[in-house]
Amino acid sequence: MTTTMGLAERIGMVRAEVAEAAARAGRSPDAVTIVAVSKTVDRAAVDEAYALGLRHFGENRVQDAVRKFADPLPHDAVLHLIGQLQTNKARPAAALFGLIESVDRLSLIAALEKEAARLERTIPVLLQVNIAGEAQKAGCPPEDAADLVARIAATPGLALRGLMTIAPLVPDPEQVRPVFAGLRALRDLIRDEHPELPLATLSMGMSNDYATAIAEGATEVRIGRAIFGS
Ligand SMILES: *Cc1c(COP(=O)(O)O)cnc(C)c1O
Repeated sequence: MTTTMGLAERIGMVRAEVAEAAARAGRSPDAVTIVAVSKTVDRAAVDEAYALGLRHFGENRVQDAVRKFADPLPHDAVLHLIGQLQTNKARPAAALFGLIESVDRLSLIAALEKEAARLERTIPVLLQVNIAGEAQKAGCPPEDAADLVARIAATPGLALRGLMTIAPLVPDPEQVRPVFAGLRALRDLIRDEHPELPLATLSMGMSNDYATAIAEGATEVRIGRAIFGS
């Protein structure tokens, strides 16, 4: 089905489902940002999606993104880094991305602080948390999250925006509902103790489970296949 549809139809379907999931959760569709994950497609597809109204794009590899966006997107587009970031790639990442979602350790915070100072810019970031506890996945352990967000908030050149998690890939999205609920609960817990920390963003949910993530409070969903095809 999906593969026979064009990009405009797929975007239309995703928008409708996001709006429906938001409405079911008693939230405005505007409360959920759609990040089109463009890691598997070329620049022409990104430009087409931009022309169709999408403004947020997600990439998981710094080098690929540097090439793909050598010719910058229009100023109202925002590039999100959603993949693991090595400290030795902090320089190009700091220069290219409008939001770095994969901050998960002190050494990376320090590297980004340095690059932000060099560029004289403020870099918006999310703390990535490994809620599911998968051994091979990036993200800090939940018990380290409060200290790390406090550190980010106190770091010149970084602007804390919230939390991000990647749920395990499972056939039934209900299986990962506790992961999404867990990220929100962690955010709420940190917020109770540190109401001054800016933690509005919850980036969670992908093509197969974004409706569930929205039900559990996602403010940003990262959608690749459902928009660009498999
Ligand atoms: C690839 C990727 C996505 C998008 O996955 P789809 O299943 O294609 O929607 C979302 N988040 C991250 C971190 C990814 O690497």
